[in-house]
Amino acid sequence: MTTADLAHEAGHSASAAAPVATPTHARFPFDQRALADFRTGARYFGAHRPHGRKHAGVDLIAPPGRPIHAIADGVVIQAPYYFYTGTNALEVHHPGVGTVRYGEINMHKVVRLRAGQHVKRGDIIAYVGRLDSGSSMLHFELYAGTGHGGLTVRSNPPYQRRHDLVNPTHLMTRLQHEAFGI
Ligand SMILES: [Zn+2]
Repeated sequence: MTTADLAHEAGHSASAAAPVATPTHARFPFDQRALADFRTGARYFGAHRPHGRKHAGVDLIAPPGRPIHAIADGVVIQAPYYFYTGTNALEVHHPGVGTVRYGEINMHKVVRLRAGQHVKRGDIIAYVGRLDSGSSMLHFELYAGTGHGGLTVRSNPPYQRRHDLVNPTHLMTRLQHEAFGI
């Protein structure tokens, strides 16, 4: 058994013993690891963007078309809609985890979902899109779910997002570790 396998096993047993309040049922949105560290470069939560804006999510770099899995059971809040330079976004509320905007998803290969529809943990809910710039990723935004209305709020600097925006780095780091031992 490799070190990675041991870490994987340890992650699972730790999850089983964790308090109910933690979203232990969540999973990483890909079956493979991201191609770059989402905690560095321009990919991390809070990274600088033009005009004083800050990055409101983490970017999981992956090839266009890679399947994106629901990280937990949930209910679709917003069916796929146009988001950013040639890509869509989808919003799903995952009880116990929060509301997730799965952003920069594929606008040509679309999973037909409608608001109010239930999804199960692991369901393929979207595919990685391709930005006009040529780069491709899942842009992952997390919200506590206590807010109402649209997630993009241009009048709320520096993230320009709804007030219940949450830094997803800790969650994503844990999910990545549980999935791949890294
Ligand atoms: Zn992003």
